[in-house]
Amino acid sequence: MTKKRIYEIARELGVTSKELIGRLDEMGMPGLKAANSVDDEEYALIVHLYEDEAATAEAPAVEAEVPAVKDAEEATPAKAKSPAEPRHGEPRAPIVSVLGHIDHGKTTLLDAIRKSHLASKEAGGITQGIAAYQAELGGHRITFIDTPGHKAFTGMRARGAQVTDIAILVVAADDGVMAQTVEAIDHIQAAGVPMIVAINKVDKANADISKVMNDLAQKGLMPEAWGGETITVEISALQDQNIEELLEMILLVAEMEDLRADAKAPLKAIVIESHVASGRGPVATAVVRDGSLHEKDWAVAGTTFGRVKALFDETGARIPEGKPGQAVEILGFDDVPDVGAEVSVVKNRNAAQKAVQRTADVTTVKPQVERKPRSFEELFSQQEDEGTSVKLVLKASSTGALEAARREFSALQVEGVELDILRAGVGEISESDVLLASTVGEECLVVGFGVKSNPKALKLAERDGVSVISYEIIYDLVDDIERALKRRLAPEFAEVRIGLVEVRDLFSVPGGTVAGCYVADGKVSRRAHIRVMRNEQEVFTGRILSLRRFEDDVREVASGRECGLRIDGFDAVEIGDQLVIFELEEVER
Ligand code: GDP
Repeated sequence: MTKKRIYEIARELGVTSKELIGRLDEMGMPGLKAANSVDDEEYALIVHLYEDEAATAEAPAVEAEVPAVKDAEEATPAKAKSPAEPRHGEPRAPIVSVLGHIDHGKTTLLDAIRKSHLASKEAGGITQGIAAYQAELGGHRITFIDTPGHKAFTGMRARGAQVTDIAILVVAADDGVMAQTVEAIDHIQAAGVPMIVAINKVDKANADISKVMNDLAQKGLMPEAWGGETITVEISALQDQNIEELLEMILLVAEMEDLRADAKAPLKAIVIESHVASGRGPVATAVVRDGSLHEKDWAVAGTTFGRVKALFDETGARIPEGKPGQAVEILGFDDVPDVGAEVSVVKNRNAAQKAVQRTADVTTVKPQVERKPRSFEELFSQQEDEGTSVKLVLKASSTGALEAARREFSALQVEGVELDILRAGVGEISESDVLLASTVGEECLVVGFGVKSNPKALKLAERDGVSVISYEIIYDLVDDIERALKRRLAPEFAEVRIGLVEVRDLFSVPGGTVAGCYVADGKVSRRAHIRVMRNEQEVFTGRILSLRRFEDDVREVASGRECGLRIDGFDAVEIGDQLVIFELEEVER
């Protein structure tokens, strides 16, 4: 029995995978993804259903066709009017990062793609060592970030920039899922970008593909071949095997993501590398995600700006503009921009200076505002919002310690709040741990159990305002986590009775009734809550509108005294009613 993937069928039918999947969904075959395989029978059914559908489709199908635009000038302003439209513009090249464990073949893979599929061949196929390049397959382009590993990937995300559209996770078939593979998975998942697993080194005699698949499944990434959703492609980067299949799969995932950009939209580019080059000054390489960048534009990148002197592509060729999906080398900044900085274009020098000043103001104020909390108490007292989870990166001294902590955590049951452990690993707290926490937001804690922090990690934590807390005793750790979970709950209140009042007289006043009262017990306070009881039945519960002694508004009236009291929203008070006065106190859970 042959198996066909949806994208192959789409190609045969002359439609895009996205269209086909959409149709199949409508026709009662939901849940299919482009990379899903179907057997002969299902294939026949799809073709049959699809042809039937196409045959019965009426005129409206034509409506979907975009009318030919005769005058491009006319069409553009209309497009430009809706910059908020996320799916605007033309399809653009996906921007791809390669991640994985050391020595699993990331660099070899990037080299292999560069050698065989480089898009620009002008300079003899040699790239100028800029931090990204474009590959081409069947007329479609793919932009590869040429710095493998998750340091660059997460480093950018930590600064709030997401450059990657699709992540390739390289796993060597002779080694399987290793520590940095797991870290990479964490980072990719935290970034929320689609992943393709390249199972590399399949040429090796000791390659064990099913072990890799098993390892992946264990990490919650069930391979497609085993009925899951994780796309895997078996390759040999060294021997150039199946590289084309991998590129095809990237294009397919890109198609599903429907990546688009509008060259006329405001520029959104992200710096992926920067340095000072002798004779050229500050040089930055940026990947254009939307809009375009031109020579002579006033560009701003974080706290740096400049007028673009020249732009170069990956072959070193000078280009007049950098287009969506492309990586461009930019000359003209007055200083070296930070990696991860977003490049935008402004009207003139004045606007550029103002933009830089604004960023500088924010950056200098930030450390004081976002001071690193030193303890759980401090951290969670800063959080006013309720949430549904507490996020954690957990590092322990051994797998045993890790398991012990996990076991204790699993016994913590706080309804409605989950403990979300983004990473649990053995070893000291590393920069990578802090980076992961900083990319998911301030509420993510990095917690060590019986381990120290790497000084660089602490420095990074200080800079990015990430809380790093180490414990030596498991119960301290578990207690703090439990408190953290409970603090994420909506507060619970209990009534505390502070007084009892009897209604002895009634007075009509404009707009309502004042109850002439006697404080029989405790006190009545203007800010307290009130419950009206009649014949031991509750009649009303609410707040006090006014509280007076003789003619004066007062805050409190003590027991044994008389007062005039109006109830907010309730005037049907009667002589003989008992008024229970209470306050609400938050309950410690
Ligand atoms: P990186 O650390 O992930 O960038 O790994 P490299 O690309 O530097 O590769 C590490 C080693 O694995 C090098 O010696 C490569 O030649 C070798 N290697 C990479 N890909 C393959 C492959 O597909 N097959 C074999 N046999 N060796 C490979």
